[in-house]
Amino acid sequence: MTAPTWVLATDTALLTTCVELARGAGGPVTVVAAGPRELADAAAAAGPDRVLWAEPEADRPAESLAPTIAAAAADAGVRVLVSTVAPAARALLGAAATAVSASVVAGAVALSVDGDALVVERSALDGAVLETLATAGALALVARGDEVAAPDGAPAPVEPLAAGPVADLRVVSRTPVGGASGVRDAERVVSIGRGVRAKADLELIGTLTSALDAEIACSMPIADDLGWVPKERYIGRSGQHIAPRLYLAVGIAGMPQHMEGVRDAKVVAAINNDPAAPIFRTADYGVVGDLYEVVPALVEALRE
Ligand SMILES: Cc1cc2nc3c(=O)[nH]c(=O)nc-3n(C[C@H](O)[C@H](O)[C@H](O)COP(=O)(O)OP(=O)(O)OC[C@H]3O[C@@H](n4cnc5c(N)ncnc54)[C@H](O)[C@@H]3O)c2cc1C
Repeated sequence: MTAPTWVLATDTALLTTCVELARGAGGPVTVVAAGPRELADAAAAAGPDRVLWAEPEADRPAESLAPTIAAAAADAGVRVLVSTVAPAARALLGAAATAVSASVVAGAVALSVDGDALVVERSALDGAVLETLATAGALALVARGDEVAAPDGAPAPVEPLAAGPVADLRVVSRTPVGGASGVRDAERVVSIGRGVRAKADLELIGTLTSALDAEIACSMPIADDLGWVPKERYIGRSGQHIAPRLYLAVGIAGMPQHMEGVRDAKVVAAINNDPAAPIFRTADYGVVGDLYEVVPALVEALRE
Protein backbone atom coordinates (compact mmCIF):
# COMPACT_ATOMS: atom_id res chain seq x y z
CA MET A 1 0.00 0.00 0.00
CA THR A 2 1.28 3.50 -0.80
CA ALA A 3 2.26 5.52 2.26
CA PRO A 4 0.22 8.69 2.86
CA THR A 5 1.20 11.98 1.28
CA TRP A 6 0.49 15.22 3.11
CA VAL A 7 0.47 18.80 1.86
CA LEU A 8 0.89 21.32 4.68
CA ALA A 9 -0.90 24.63 4.14
CA THR A 10 -1.20 27.83 6.12
CA ASP A 11 -2.53 29.86 3.19
CA THR A 12 -3.74 29.16 -0.32
CA ALA A 13 -0.77 30.44 -2.39
CA LEU A 14 0.41 27.64 -4.70
CA LEU A 15 -1.84 25.10 -2.96
CA THR A 16 -3.19 23.49 -6.14
CA THR A 17 0.40 23.25 -7.42
CA CYS A 18 1.43 21.49 -4.21
CA VAL A 19 -1.46 19.00 -4.48
CA GLU A 20 -0.58 18.28 -8.10
CA LEU A 21 3.08 17.75 -7.14
CA ALA A 22 2.04 15.45 -4.27
CA ARG A 23 0.02 13.32 -6.72
CA GLY A 24 3.35 12.16 -8.13
CA ALA A 25 3.79 9.93 -5.06
CA GLY A 26 0.99 7.78 -6.46
CA GLY A 27 -1.19 7.58 -3.36
CA PRO A 28 -4.01 9.52 -1.75
CA VAL A 29 -3.20 13.16 -0.99
CA THR A 30 -4.28 14.84 2.24
CA VAL A 31 -4.01 18.58 2.79
CA VAL A 32 -3.37 19.48 6.41
CA ALA A 33 -4.78 23.00 6.73
CA ALA A 34 -3.49 24.93 9.73
CA GLY A 35 -5.67 28.01 9.96
CA PRO A 36 -9.27 29.20 9.88
CA ARG A 37 -12.18 27.16 8.49
CA GLU A 38 -12.09 29.20 5.25
CA LEU A 39 -8.56 27.88 4.63
CA ALA A 40 -9.77 24.28 5.07
CA ASP A 41 -12.65 24.94 2.64
CA ALA A 42 -10.29 26.47 0.07
CA ALA A 43 -7.94 23.49 0.52
CA ALA A 44 -10.86 21.10 -0.09
CA ALA A 45 -11.35 22.69 -3.52
CA ALA A 46 -7.65 22.41 -4.45
CA GLY A 47 -7.91 18.77 -5.54
CA PRO A 48 -6.87 16.58 -2.56
CA ASP A 49 -8.63 13.39 -1.44
CA ARG A 50 -9.28 14.81 2.00
CA VAL A 51 -8.47 17.72 4.28
CA LEU A 52 -7.39 17.51 7.90
CA TRP A 53 -8.12 20.81 9.56
CA ALA A 54 -6.46 22.24 12.67
CA GLU A 55 -7.12 25.76 13.89
CA PRO A 56 -4.60 27.44 16.19
CA GLU A 57 -6.03 29.16 19.26
CA ALA A 58 -6.84 32.84 18.73
CA ASP A 59 -3.59 34.16 20.20
CA ARG A 60 -1.35 31.50 18.73
CA PRO A 61 0.36 31.42 15.29
CA ALA A 62 0.02 28.49 12.89
CA GLU A 63 3.52 27.36 13.90
CA SER A 64 2.21 26.53 17.38
CA LEU A 65 0.59 23.47 15.77
CA ALA A 66 3.96 22.07 14.68
CA PRO A 67 4.12 19.43 17.48
CA THR A 68 0.53 18.30 16.73
CA ILE A 69 1.17 17.98 13.01
CA ALA A 70 4.58 16.34 13.48
CA ALA A 71 3.14 13.72 15.88
CA ALA A 72 0.18 13.05 13.57
CA ALA A 73 2.48 12.65 10.54
CA ALA A 74 4.60 10.11 12.44
CA ASP A 75 1.45 8.21 13.59
CA ALA A 76 0.10 8.11 10.04
CA GLY A 77 3.43 6.91 8.60
CA VAL A 78 3.56 9.77 6.11
CA ARG A 79 6.30 9.29 3.51
CA VAL A 80 5.91 12.44 1.43
CA LEU A 81 5.34 15.93 2.82
CA VAL A 82 4.88 18.96 0.61
CA SER A 83 4.59 22.54 1.78
CA THR A 84 3.29 25.67 0.17
CA VAL A 85 5.71 28.61 -0.05
CA ALA A 86 4.28 30.39 2.99
CA PRO A 87 6.93 30.80 5.72
CA ALA A 88 4.68 29.27 8.40
CA ALA A 89 3.94 26.25 6.18
CA ARG A 90 7.65 25.75 5.62
CA ALA A 91 8.18 25.84 9.40
CA LEU A 92 5.53 23.12 9.85
CA LEU A 93 7.20 21.11 7.09
CA GLY A 94 10.51 21.22 8.95
CA ALA A 95 8.93 19.93 12.16
CA ALA A 96 7.00 17.15 10.40
CA ALA A 97 10.06 16.20 8.32
CA THR A 98 12.06 15.65 11.49
CA ALA A 99 9.28 13.48 12.95
CA VAL A 100 9.23 11.15 9.92
CA SER A 101 12.99 11.38 9.20
CA ALA A 102 12.37 12.84 5.76
CA SER A 103 15.01 14.43 3.58
CA VAL A 104 14.09 18.05 2.90
CA VAL A 105 14.32 19.29 -0.70
CA ALA A 106 13.57 22.87 -1.78
CA GLY A 107 12.42 24.02 -5.22
CA ALA A 108 10.56 20.77 -6.09
CA VAL A 109 8.77 20.85 -9.44
CA ALA A 110 7.97 17.16 -10.10
CA LEU A 111 7.70 13.95 -8.14
CA SER A 112 7.52 10.33 -9.29
CA VAL A 113 8.02 6.81 -8.04
CA ASP A 114 10.64 4.42 -9.43
CA GLY A 115 10.35 1.00 -7.79
CA ASP A 116 10.90 1.65 -4.08
CA ALA A 117 12.50 5.04 -4.68
CA LEU A 118 10.94 8.47 -4.67
CA VAL A 119 12.36 10.65 -7.44
CA VAL A 120 12.10 14.42 -7.24
CA GLU A 121 13.03 17.03 -9.80
CA ARG A 122 13.99 20.35 -8.42
CA SER A 123 14.91 23.68 -9.85
CA ALA A 124 18.45 24.65 -8.86
CA LEU A 125 20.94 27.45 -9.52
CA ASP A 126 18.24 30.08 -9.81
CA GLY A 127 16.28 28.04 -12.35
CA ALA A 128 19.26 27.38 -14.66
CA VAL A 129 19.43 23.68 -13.79
CA LEU A 130 16.89 20.95 -13.23
CA GLU A 131 18.31 18.50 -10.71
CA THR A 132 16.97 14.96 -10.17
CA LEU A 133 17.27 13.44 -6.70
CA ALA A 134 16.20 10.00 -5.51
CA THR A 135 15.71 8.44 -2.10
CA ALA A 136 14.54 5.16 -0.66
CA GLY A 137 13.43 7.10 2.42
CA ALA A 138 10.86 9.81 3.06
CA LEU A 139 10.79 13.23 1.41
CA ALA A 140 9.72 16.70 2.52
CA LEU A 141 9.38 19.06 -0.42
CA VAL A 142 9.05 22.81 -0.68
CA ALA A 143 7.19 23.23 -3.94
CA ARG A 144 8.10 25.65 -6.66
CA GLY A 145 6.20 26.56 -9.79
CA ASP A 146 3.35 28.57 -11.16
CA GLU A 147 -0.13 28.45 -9.81
CA VAL A 148 -2.24 25.81 -11.60
CA ALA A 149 -6.01 25.98 -11.88
CA ALA A 150 -8.05 24.11 -9.28
CA PRO A 151 -9.56 20.93 -10.71
CA ASP A 152 -13.29 20.62 -11.35
CA GLY A 153 -15.29 18.31 -9.17
CA ALA A 154 -16.70 18.04 -5.69
CA PRO A 155 -14.61 19.41 -2.83
CA ALA A 156 -12.81 16.88 -0.63
CA PRO A 157 -14.22 16.09 2.81
CA VAL A 158 -12.85 18.16 5.70
CA GLU A 159 -12.14 16.35 8.98
CA PRO A 160 -10.66 17.77 12.17
CA LEU A 161 -7.08 16.82 12.92
CA ALA A 162 -6.95 15.13 16.33
CA ALA A 163 -5.78 17.54 19.01
CA GLY A 164 -2.19 17.09 20.10
CA PRO A 165 0.69 18.87 21.79
CA VAL A 166 0.96 22.58 21.06
CA ALA A 167 4.10 24.71 21.11
CA ASP A 168 4.38 27.32 23.86
CA LEU A 169 4.19 30.21 21.39
CA ARG A 170 1.85 33.19 21.59
CA VAL A 171 1.30 36.32 19.54
CA VAL A 172 1.77 39.17 22.00
CA SER A 173 1.22 42.07 19.59
CA ARG A 174 0.55 42.85 15.94
CA THR A 175 1.75 46.10 14.42
CA PRO A 176 0.77 46.88 10.84
CA VAL A 177 3.81 48.07 8.90
CA GLY A 178 2.52 48.30 5.31
CA GLY A 179 0.83 51.70 5.70
CA ALA A 180 3.80 53.15 7.52
CA SER A 181 6.13 52.47 4.60
CA GLY A 182 4.62 55.27 2.51
CA VAL A 183 4.64 53.16 -0.63
CA ARG A 184 0.95 52.32 -0.40
CA ASP A 185 -0.26 55.90 -0.65
CA ALA A 186 2.49 57.24 -2.90
CA GLU A 187 1.61 59.15 -6.08
CA ARG A 188 4.81 58.06 -7.79
CA VAL A 189 6.68 54.81 -7.24
CA VAL A 190 10.01 53.67 -8.67
CA SER A 191 10.26 49.93 -8.37
CA ILE A 192 13.39 47.86 -8.88
CA GLY A 193 13.89 44.27 -9.93
CA ARG A 194 16.71 41.84 -10.45
CA GLY A 195 17.94 43.87 -13.39
CA VAL A 196 19.67 45.94 -10.69
CA ARG A 197 22.95 44.15 -10.22
CA ALA A 198 24.16 45.20 -6.76
CA LYS A 199 22.88 46.71 -3.56
CA ALA A 200 25.30 49.61 -4.05
CA ASP A 201 23.34 50.53 -7.18
CA LEU A 202 20.44 51.62 -4.95
CA GLU A 203 22.36 54.90 -4.80
CA LEU A 204 21.77 55.36 -8.53
CA ILE A 205 18.09 54.46 -8.09
CA GLY A 206 17.95 56.98 -5.22
CA THR A 207 18.82 59.76 -7.67
CA LEU A 208 15.76 58.77 -9.70
CA THR A 209 13.39 58.58 -6.71
CA SER A 210 14.62 62.03 -5.61
CA ALA A 211 14.21 63.53 -9.06
CA LEU A 212 10.67 62.15 -9.31
CA ASP A 213 9.81 62.65 -5.64
CA ALA A 214 8.87 58.97 -5.66
CA GLU A 215 8.82 56.16 -3.13
CA ILE A 216 11.00 53.10 -3.69
CA ALA A 217 9.42 49.66 -4.17
CA CYS A 218 10.63 46.40 -5.66
CA SER A 219 9.86 42.93 -6.96
CA MET A 220 9.64 40.05 -4.51
CA PRO A 221 13.18 38.65 -4.94
CA ILE A 222 14.76 42.02 -4.18
CA ALA A 223 13.06 42.09 -0.76
CA ASP A 224 12.60 38.40 -0.01
CA ASP A 225 15.81 36.84 -1.31
CA LEU A 226 18.25 39.74 -1.33
CA GLY A 227 16.90 41.92 1.48
CA TRP A 228 17.92 45.14 -0.29
CA VAL A 229 14.54 46.80 0.28
CA PRO A 230 12.24 46.21 3.30
CA LYS A 231 9.74 43.40 2.75
CA GLU A 232 6.73 45.69 3.17
CA ARG A 233 7.78 47.43 -0.05
CA TYR A 234 7.57 44.59 -2.50
CA ILE A 235 4.72 44.71 -4.93
CA GLY A 236 2.54 41.89 -6.19
CA ARG A 237 0.20 39.08 -5.41
CA SER A 238 1.84 38.26 -2.11
CA GLY A 239 3.07 41.80 -1.46
CA GLN A 240 1.58 45.28 -1.67
CA HIS A 241 -1.27 46.22 -4.00
CA ILE A 242 -0.87 49.88 -4.88
CA ALA A 243 -2.55 52.46 -7.09
CA PRO A 244 -0.03 55.26 -7.76
CA ARG A 245 -0.36 57.76 -10.60
CA LEU A 246 2.99 56.55 -11.94
CA TYR A 247 4.62 53.16 -11.46
CA LEU A 248 8.08 53.06 -13.01
CA ALA A 249 9.48 49.52 -13.12
CA VAL A 250 13.27 49.40 -13.48
CA GLY A 251 14.78 46.04 -14.40
CA ILE A 252 11.59 44.14 -13.57
CA ALA A 253 10.47 41.29 -15.84
CA GLY A 254 6.76 41.93 -15.22
CA MET A 255 5.59 38.45 -14.25
CA PRO A 256 1.85 38.17 -13.60
CA GLN A 257 2.42 37.70 -9.84
CA HIS A 258 4.20 41.06 -9.77
CA MET A 259 1.83 42.95 -12.08
CA GLU A 260 -1.19 41.97 -9.95
CA GLY A 261 0.05 44.49 -7.41
CA VAL A 262 -0.14 47.44 -9.84
CA ARG A 263 -3.37 46.60 -11.63
CA ASP A 264 -4.82 49.86 -10.33
CA ALA A 265 -1.85 52.11 -11.19
CA LYS A 266 -2.81 54.92 -13.59
CA VAL A 267 0.36 54.75 -15.67
CA VAL A 268 2.89 51.92 -15.75
CA ALA A 269 6.24 52.66 -17.35
CA ALA A 270 9.14 50.26 -17.69
CA ILE A 271 12.88 50.29 -18.31
CA ASN A 272 14.15 46.91 -19.42
CA ASN A 273 16.98 45.84 -21.72
CA ASP A 274 15.01 42.89 -23.10
CA PRO A 275 12.49 43.96 -25.77
CA ALA A 276 10.66 40.66 -25.19
CA ALA A 277 10.26 41.24 -21.43
CA PRO A 278 6.64 40.53 -20.40
CA ILE A 279 6.34 43.95 -18.76
CA PHE A 280 6.22 45.58 -22.20
CA ARG A 281 2.96 43.73 -22.86
CA THR A 282 1.17 45.65 -20.10
CA ALA A 283 3.18 48.86 -19.61
CA ASP A 284 1.78 52.11 -20.98
CA TYR A 285 5.28 53.38 -21.75
CA GLY A 286 8.50 51.48 -22.17
CA VAL A 287 12.18 52.16 -22.72
CA VAL A 288 14.20 49.27 -24.10
CA GLY A 289 17.67 49.85 -22.76
CA ASP A 290 20.25 49.25 -20.08
CA LEU A 291 19.00 50.80 -16.85
CA TYR A 292 22.58 51.87 -16.05
CA GLU A 293 22.42 54.16 -19.07
CA VAL A 294 18.73 55.04 -19.09
CA VAL A 295 18.40 55.99 -15.39
CA PRO A 296 21.21 58.61 -15.37
CA ALA A 297 19.89 60.08 -18.64
CA LEU A 298 16.36 60.24 -17.22
CA VAL A 299 17.56 61.87 -14.01
CA GLU A 300 19.46 64.48 -16.01
CA ALA A 301 16.40 65.18 -18.14
CA LEU A 302 14.16 65.46 -15.06
CA ARG A 303 16.59 67.87 -13.37
CA GLU A 304 16.66 70.07 -16.43
C1 LIG B 1 3.14 32.01 -5.66
C2 LIG B 1 4.04 33.08 -6.13
C3 LIG B 1 3.82 34.36 -5.70
C4 LIG B 1 4.66 35.39 -6.13
N1 LIG B 1 4.40 36.65 -5.72
C5 LIG B 1 5.17 37.65 -6.17
C6 LIG B 1 4.90 39.00 -5.78
O1 LIG B 1 3.99 39.29 -4.99
N2 LIG B 1 5.70 39.96 -6.28
C7 LIG B 1 6.73 39.71 -7.16
O2 LIG B 1 7.42 40.66 -7.56
N3 LIG B 1 7.00 38.46 -7.53
C8 LIG B 1 6.25 37.42 -7.05
N4 LIG B 1 6.55 36.16 -7.44
C9 LIG B 1 7.77 35.93 -8.24
C10 LIG B 1 7.55 36.26 -9.71
O3 LIG B 1 6.98 35.15 -10.37
C11 LIG B 1 8.89 36.61 -10.38
O4 LIG B 1 9.79 35.54 -10.20
C12 LIG B 1 9.52 37.89 -9.85
O5 LIG B 1 8.59 38.94 -9.86
C13 LIG B 1 10.71 38.24 -10.76
O6 LIG B 1 11.38 39.36 -10.24
P1 LIG B 1 12.18 40.33 -11.21
O7 LIG B 1 11.31 40.78 -12.33
O8 LIG B 1 12.80 41.37 -10.34
O9 LIG B 1 13.39 39.40 -11.70
P2 LIG B 1 13.70 38.71 -13.09
O10 LIG B 1 12.63 37.79 -13.50
O11 LIG B 1 15.08 38.14 -12.94
O12 LIG B 1 13.74 39.89 -14.15
C14 LIG B 1 14.76 40.85 -14.21
C15 LIG B 1 14.49 41.72 -15.43
O13 LIG B 1 15.49 42.73 -15.51
C16 LIG B 1 15.89 42.88 -16.86
N5 LIG B 1 17.27 43.40 -16.84
C17 LIG B 1 18.41 42.73 -16.56
N6 LIG B 1 19.47 43.55 -16.62
C18 LIG B 1 18.99 44.76 -16.97
C19 LIG B 1 19.62 46.03 -17.21
N7 LIG B 1 20.93 46.21 -17.08
N8 LIG B 1 18.82 47.05 -17.58
C20 LIG B 1 17.46 46.90 -17.72
N9 LIG B 1 16.83 45.73 -17.49
C21 LIG B 1 17.58 44.67 -17.11
C22 LIG B 1 15.76 41.51 -17.47
O14 LIG B 1 15.57 41.60 -18.87
C23 LIG B 1 14.55 40.95 -16.76
O15 LIG B 1 13.36 41.20 -17.49
C24 LIG B 1 5.74 35.12 -7.01
C25 LIG B 1 5.95 33.82 -7.44
C26 LIG B 1 5.13 32.81 -7.01
C27 LIG B 1 5.38 31.42 -7.52
